[in-house]
Amino acid sequence: MKRRISIPLKIGKVTVGGEAPIAVQSMTKTDTRDIQATIKQIKELEECGCEIVRLAIPDKEAAESISAIKRSVSLPLIADIHFDYRLALAALQAGVDGIRLNPGNIRDREQIAKMVAAAREKEIPIRIGVNAGSLPPDFEPDTPLAERMVDMALQQIRFMESLDFNLIKVSLKAFDVPATIKAYQIIADKIPYPLHLGITEAGLPQAGAIRSAIGMGILLYQGIGDTIRVSLTAHPCEEVFAAYEILKSLGLRQRGATLVSCPSCGRAEVDVVALAEAVNDHLRKMSKPIKMAVMGCIVNGPGEAKDADVGIACGKGKGVIFRKGKVVKTVAEEKFVEALIAEINKEC
Ligand code: SF4
Repeated sequence: MKRRISIPLKIGKVTVGGEAPIAVQSMTKTDTRDIQATIKQIKELEECGCEIVRLAIPDKEAAESISAIKRSVSLPLIADIHFDYRLALAALQAGVDGIRLNPGNIRDREQIAKMVAAAREKEIPIRIGVNAGSLPPDFEPDTPLAERMVDMALQQIRFMESLDFNLIKVSLKAFDVPATIKAYQIIADKIPYPLHLGITEAGLPQAGAIRSAIGMGILLYQGIGDTIRVSLTAHPCEEVFAAYEILKSLGLRQRGATLVSCPSCGRAEVDVVALAEAVNDHLRKMSKPIKMAVMGCIVNGPGEAKDADVGIACGKGKGVIFRKGKVVKTVAEEKFVEALIAEINKEC
């Protein structure tokens, strides 16, 4: 997998692009004006591995809240700006680490120039965040969606470049997976800037994670993408878990535990689903990259369990626990969860 190398930029303490690890982002779902609730959610996000957080900035009060929020958290903050460029100016004034600008609803060049001047002064990057849902209807109405998104982004990129500003990051998000993939593929060859990947409004966690994994997975496998956000209708930590699963599946990041579990079938003599869920609840709290296997019987069980840092191959009323390929003990079915958690904790 050969990665497209973009010009790196800094979002607060995090490098995005170049050869930096692909950064995991999410977005708070609190009212940004509720400073305490927003701080609490950012801290939850940090604990589950999020590296950059975006905040909705619907008005001046939200923009001004950034200073107080920033004093209490360490993750870099990005202000999500739509319609009113003055909110970007207020967010910059409040000390934000990055701006996301929607070119579909802020198109006035004078206003963009003012934002660029303020961002340049503070050396703050701007993400040109195209969203299919907010493309103006009069913008290239007869052009296919992927090309329309690219053209919208290029128009603003070229304008910012004409102002001698290149702290640029770009995203081209749509719900339509093939159009999103195509848009990123087209723009990847046209600009040198980091790309933020996402499938927008992807849905509830199950379908949304699959849709995002297909869209972003194809791009990441082609070396495209420097930072990702999985947009889910769920608590934002679910987005972070899904993002790491995508990156781990492609071998691009290693964070948190990986659970290998068999689907169960008529051969299983234990409740594999309940066991895997109980183990997974514990694994989700871990940041160390360990591999854990839960296998329902001895057909594939020992093979997979042996390959894991910790594994169990279940049998009738009992199971064999492996640690790095070696059998460490046999435990009774009622002790499966307890014994596995004890082994996992030893691993950490
Ligand atoms: S490991 Fe055993 S129980 Fe699990 S799916 Fe395979 S054959 Fe079925």
